[in-house]
Amino acid sequence: MDTLNRMEVWFVSGSQHLYGPDTLRQVAVDSKAIAEALGNSTKISVRVVFKPVLTTPDSIFELCSEANINKDCIGIIAWMHTFSPAKMWIKGLSVLNKPFLHFHTQLNRDIPWETIDMDFMNLNQSAHGDREFGFIGSRMRLNRKVVTGHWEDEETIERIGVWTRAAAALDDARRLKIARFGDNMRDVAVTEGNKVSAQIKLGYSVYGFGVGDLVATVNSVKENEVNAIVEEYKSAYNVTRDVERSETLRDAARIEIGMENFLKAGNFKAFTTTFEDLHGLKQLPGLAVQRLMEKGYGFGAEGDWKTAALVRSMKVMAAGLPGGTSFMEDYTYHLDPVGMRVLGAHMLEVCPSISSDKPYLEVHPLSIGGKADPARLVFKSATGKAICASLVDLGNRFRMILNKVEVVDCPDMPNLPVASVLWKPLPNLKTAATAWIIAGGAHHTGFSQAITAEYIEDFSSMLDIEYLLIDEKCDLTAFKKEIRWNEVYYNISGGII
Ligand code: MN
Repeated sequence: MDTLNRMEVWFVSGSQHLYGPDTLRQVAVDSKAIAEALGNSTKISVRVVFKPVLTTPDSIFELCSEANINKDCIGIIAWMHTFSPAKMWIKGLSVLNKPFLHFHTQLNRDIPWETIDMDFMNLNQSAHGDREFGFIGSRMRLNRKVVTGHWEDEETIERIGVWTRAAAALDDARRLKIARFGDNMRDVAVTEGNKVSAQIKLGYSVYGFGVGDLVATVNSVKENEVNAIVEEYKSAYNVTRDVERSETLRDAARIEIGMENFLKAGNFKAFTTTFEDLHGLKQLPGLAVQRLMEKGYGFGAEGDWKTAALVRSMKVMAAGLPGGTSFMEDYTYHLDPVGMRVLGAHMLEVCPSISSDKPYLEVHPLSIGGKADPARLVFKSATGKAICASLVDLGNRFRMILNKVEVVDCPDMPNLPVASVLWKPLPNLKTAATAWIIAGGAHHTGFSQAITAEYIEDFSSMLDIEYLLIDEKCDLTAFKKEIRWNEVYYNISGGII
């Protein structure tokens, strides 16, 4: 993943000329110090660039226009050290098309009780200056994140760090190309959707290819390339000599190299496959998909381009953080009243970034698809907190659904030759699954142990789409009401695409 290094957010302070040059100089010095502190924090992974203090409608408009066209700028952080009459911001904010965070902080953490005077009061005005600024954001119905707290407070900085990663995912989504090998799995509903709406609302574009285009690339792979990658498998995974020497593994290696070459040539960062359309491929791509996901590609099975895009966005948000991110499916339940669990897995395609140990590389029959036995990585997931997210197309809008889960130890399953994860959904399986189904959440999800619900909430806000959270506080009666209210809101708020 090479995405975060080149990106920057712009730190902007508002003021006005009323205060005179001395105060404005001080505002600039203080703002620069805060921008530098944020930039130096390990909790913020993009650059934080200080911008000159803004005091007029024209300078605000110019800055917002520059931010729009600047390729490295992924968003703006605004702070009102002093009072900045907010009508000055209307022209600029009305054209801004980058995410925007309102940082409600104050230079001094504490009131200096002994020395406080009117000079102090005239400089440290964010308690009221940020309220004036906040009003215009609400008056203009702008989606933005408001973060309150002292700029040296680690918890406060973390809120900003989450937002910068969501902004990075938005920037990536706006340039994201998804390769779709074959079409949708026949008759399946939730993996369908309006690709024109998706491009307008979510940014990314979906390119369909006959699987023969991929086969041609796979068939052009050279034997020495296959040898090299088989050596890589041997050092990265537990693999038996039988599998290591098998033609099946060499076929899987050819598919991996061919697929990666295809994706690189077209600058695709996400892709889908479908087991119903594999003409010319000797096996369902399993190992290839797993390894490409680990490199940062988004993936959706059975033609599921929405989940492919979501997994890619989650991987961008998670770049460099501990814990993995994968395509996932709610596969089977354990309904023992003592501890109800979901076993998450797929036919093959689970990302080894979530593995707790060195994966096993194995070859087993697959009862679906009618192809040769495919190679795959088999492993169990690390335990701990995680999220499952689903993006569905409701016909008049996109809805993001998120469930907080806790991954738990999984008993050995000697006869199950796929990667899997066992989790407890919050607040419990009965409530979580009921809420998920009422919300129309898909069986495919983006699963992550690296990012939290807050990332997806920020990301959904930037996309201006509906966000439904199923967490430890989920109450089904309130959840049903929220869905009904949202139905009205999205029909009158201009949310229809
Ligand atoms: Mn599936």
